[in-house]
Amino acid sequence: MKVKLRYSHEVASKPILAEIILKTGLLINILEAKLTPKEGEMVIDIATQGSALKNALQQLRSSGLEVIELRSLVEVDKGLCISCGACISPCPSKAISFDENLDIEIDAKRCIGCGICVKACPRRAIQLI
Ligand code: SF4
Ligand code: SF4
Repeated sequence: MKVKLRYSHEVASKPILAEIILKTGLLINILEAKLTPKEGEMVIDIATQGSALKNALQQLRSSGLEVIELRSLVEVDKGLCISCGACISPCPSKAISFDENLDIEIDAKRCIGCGICVKACPRRAIQLI
């Protein structure tokens, strides 16, 4: 599951992800990370589900991180989309493509919720959920 983490600068200096990986043995992949002098934001992919996932999310929360579960990241309003393709090349995850009907298709497994496609769309047809 993809998860967005927000944390203060103090929390950023602690090896929280490394500790959770060592404790649980889970595979955690960092998809995106931003750090400003005040706070940090990261999108991670945790390769598990069920109680192991629940336990990992609980550990992240109790370490002082804000945890946002990213079940579905973006949606396309097909009534507004004109299939211009302007959202495809800016996507850093190559999550957007045309289907066989030239409708825009988003691969939820690849999408990291960065919002670049939202800004790229001239019709405001894509929204972060
Ligand atoms: S939010 Fe848009 S640009 Fe960013 S990864 Fe997802 S589909 Fe690609
Ligand atoms: S940029 Fe907007 S209008 Fe163009 S294909 Fe993408 S979603 Fe459709």
